[in-house]
Amino acid sequence: MNHSKHFTVEELQCPTTKKLKLEPGFIEDLEELRTFYGLPMMVTSGCRTQTHNEWLIRRKYSASPNSFHLIANPQYGCDTCAVDIRRPSPTRLHKLVSTALPLGWTVGFAKTFIHLDMRGKYSNLSPIIYTYN
Ligand SMILES: [Zn+2]
Repeated sequence: MNHSKHFTVEELQCPTTKKLKLEPGFIEDLEELRTFYGLPMMVTSGCRTQTHNEWLIRRKYSASPNSFHLIANPQYGCDTCAVDIRRPSPTRLHKLVSTALPLGWTVGFAKTFIHLDMRGKYSNLSPIIYTYN
């Protein structure tokens, strides 16, 4: 990983395998968002290997089989271009979302976390906004 001002290897690596492979350009995208947002972003999930992603799905974590968290994504051919962060206060969440959307981020809302990915840049998909059940 290139030098990152705000994010550590420990919080971005796959917790099961300790692998860290971000899509080229993604850490810069994340730094750009963090800089414009101007507030802490507590990463709760970054890189995932297939093994770790399957473990999350078994544990009923809201994870997709073709997740943009995946290293060597079999569906889209990219490396990790997503993070989950701890859901901030409503005021901060407004600032986060209004910062992220014009930069092209996909935003997914869960009760305890916010999913952010750059599928619009690194896959053939358009950015979306969604919620988890
Ligand atoms: Zn996610």
